[in-house]
Amino acid sequence: MKSLFHNIHEECGIFGVYGHPEAANLVYLGLYALQHRGQEGAGICSSDGAQFHLEKSIGLVADIFTEKRIKRLPGSMAIGHNRYSTAGGGGLKNVQPLVANYALGTIAIAHNGNLINAERLKDELETDGAIFQSTSDSEVILHLIARSKEDNPHYRIAEALRSVSGAYSLLFLRESELIAVRDPMGVRPLSIGQVDGAYVIASETCAFDLIGAEYLRDVEPGEMVIINHNGLQSVRILQSIRKAFCVFEFIYFARPDSYIFNHICVNTMRKEFGRQLAKESLVDADIVIPVPDSGVPAAIGFAEHGKLHFDFGLIRNHYIGRTFIEPKQSIRHFGVKIKLNPVRDLLKDKKVIVVDDSIVRGTTSKKIVKMIREVGGAKEVHMRICSPPTVGPCFYGIDTPTRQELIASSHITEEIRKYITADTLSYLSIEGLKSIIPNPENYCTACFDNNYPIQFPEDRLEQMELVFA
Ligand code: AMP
Repeated sequence: MKSLFHNIHEECGIFGVYGHPEAANLVYLGLYALQHRGQEGAGICSSDGAQFHLEKSIGLVADIFTEKRIKRLPGSMAIGHNRYSTAGGGGLKNVQPLVANYALGTIAIAHNGNLINAERLKDELETDGAIFQSTSDSEVILHLIARSKEDNPHYRIAEALRSVSGAYSLLFLRESELIAVRDPMGVRPLSIGQVDGAYVIASETCAFDLIGAEYLRDVEPGEMVIINHNGLQSVRILQSIRKAFCVFEFIYFARPDSYIFNHICVNTMRKEFGRQLAKESLVDADIVIPVPDSGVPAAIGFAEHGKLHFDFGLIRNHYIGRTFIEPKQSIRHFGVKIKLNPVRDLLKDKKVIVVDDSIVRGTTSKKIVKMIREVGGAKEVHMRICSPPTVGPCFYGIDTPTRQELIASSHITEEIRKYITADTLSYLSIEGLKSIIPNPENYCTACFDNNYPIQFPEDRLEQMELVFA
């Protein structure tokens, strides 16, 4: 299958500013706060009202953007993008923002999400003579905008987006305005804030906190927000028949200090998931420990409900970059040890409950259980997972492997327990999960129930069968 669909996962963070003399600097800070959403590369594009300026590289935000580079980004408006590391790579050419010249001027795009009909659109555009500079699905949107016959850029964007299907939270930068759009189901988060009279737009509100911006509201599903010298204007460009907010943002992806999907605190959700999990599957134990960092709030909720002792029995090394190189003549395989190490004093001869957010392939859990038993000296290891079994791959922007690689798609819980060698294993029930989330009908839970809210185009069904097989 082509790389566009299978190797490129647009699981990213985006940030935009309009009307601030330090626009590029604010975007830099915003991207820094959103680093968890993508670590492969980052870019910032600014406009000084006439000219566009672009700086992008592979690597982490703080390493890429030196003072010198930020100075090369003048103007009072800018957008930025953090790109998630991918299996297929793609390198610098796929790092956003992507910038294009077209009949009405220049336009830059930053995209979080994943288009499910990009491959077909790309084929059609290429047959028609289009030349693509990247393998990113986001470039398809630029081509559609460039080919539209509308004489108003907003109409062009709306027309382009009526052709695409999938998940997209988008930022566009034009010479003198910032535009934000969210897909009609609102799969990925996107919020509007204000600082020093300037508007800011971010994937998550934790980015507002860092720059002292006030969180105003979310960009609504199907809404286009246009920010220019007239202020903020809202246009409904796409009909929102149903919402499909990504539940996995709460479980794993978003930062706990963010408020997403209409002011819901991620940390509170995770703690409640943990409480619910304890209601469903409490077991006699001496200590509850999280798999840091994603398991921490849930483990606290679990321990609180179960009136059990909570502690950090696993310590995470936060300084592992993508660049860590295992010695060539490796005496030992580092595996998960490079990232996590047990605190023996807390675990020795104890009955331990370990809380993690999810099991994907099962490899991490297996190594953690082994480590807690063998290095930590635990007597019993009870694994508690704060989400239902992951049975379906995500096609809307979360980087999950194929269905065949998801251990829960072909194994029952008891088989997984045996595989990870835990004494007991329990997942949060889907009913339990839905009992915690306000208006659960507004969420996409496809990774847990195969109920995909965005239908695949006819010509993709065969491919999907292969993925689902
Ligand atoms: P696995 O070893 O494949 O079962 O992976 C499970 C671990 O990966 C858990 O500790 C999760 O916190 C983490 N995880 C879950 N989803 C993702 C994702 N989309 N990207 C990176 N890590 C993830």
